[in-house]
Amino acid sequence: MSEYQHRARKRFGQNFLHDAGVIDRILRAIRAKEGERLLEIGPGQGALTEGLLGSGAQLDVIELDLDLIPILQAKFGSNPRFQLNQGDALKFDFARLDAAPRSLRVVGNLPYNISTPLIFHLLDNATLIRDMHFMLQKEVVERMAAGPGGGDWGRLSIMVQYHCRVEHLFNVGPGAFNPAPKVDSAIVRLVPHETLPHPAKDHRLLERVVREAFNQRRKTLRNTLKQLMPADAIEAAAVDGSLRPEQLDLAAFVRLADQLALQPSAAQD
Ligand code: SAM
Repeated sequence: MSEYQHRARKRFGQNFLHDAGVIDRILRAIRAKEGERLLEIGPGQGALTEGLLGSGAQLDVIELDLDLIPILQAKFGSNPRFQLNQGDALKFDFARLDAAPRSLRVVGNLPYNISTPLIFHLLDNATLIRDMHFMLQKEVVERMAAGPGGGDWGRLSIMVQYHCRVEHLFNVGPGAFNPAPKVDSAIVRLVPHETLPHPAKDHRLLERVVREAFNQRRKTLRNTLKQLMPADAIEAAAVDGSLRPEQLDLAAFVRLADQLALQPSAAQD
């Protein structure tokens, strides 16, 4: 169908999946079922969309590129379980989907340039979400799944693991896409915790402590957190101020954030 041909656009981060083996492996990892609520971000030309709809689930998609809308409409528009939303997923109000708590299954071969802010936007709506399966840059998945002590452990690992269990499922080489990206990719599964294992009094303060601590990851905590809290507050959180931020686990960062909540400085931004 030549009228439906679409040239991939760099500014929309378009790398379309064409490897049937990889598509099948992703669909098997998701294992969507009839009656479920799925949300696909960036369906593109529908490489994953077809299999997702084939499961019998109800599928909403959000696509930014206006040129892809008629293609998606022509392919899937007649299916009553398909709902097309044109727009920017970064600005999308997920409450609009009217999904029950912990019901939404989010899927996406994400444009790499927006993947981190998009995941943070989704985490703001974590109570609606049952799970998420994303294709991301492999290096980003490694940072999400990292544990404390190494160079990959940082703001992304901590904030994602605060909300979710993270599983690095498998890697995908550049050849599975058209055009081929310059980097390796990987599929990650994120499952929001039913009960947060380390709840902070105020998660914005956790974000602040983590951001400040990792701004200069080679310095000691006493140094990097100087503007935020005095050395005795770090000690009161049962944290050794002579450690570097990458040596602290999530629970220790939450203790620091809770200690920060007691500081007079916590009220300012
Ligand atoms: N899912 C398709 C596949 O696997 O072949 C396409 C993947 S491609 C990497 C990313 C898709 O996200 C493109 O269709 C692109 O137009 C769309 N996109 C880019 N930025 C977006 C945004 N802010 N909101 C929604 N979709 C976006």
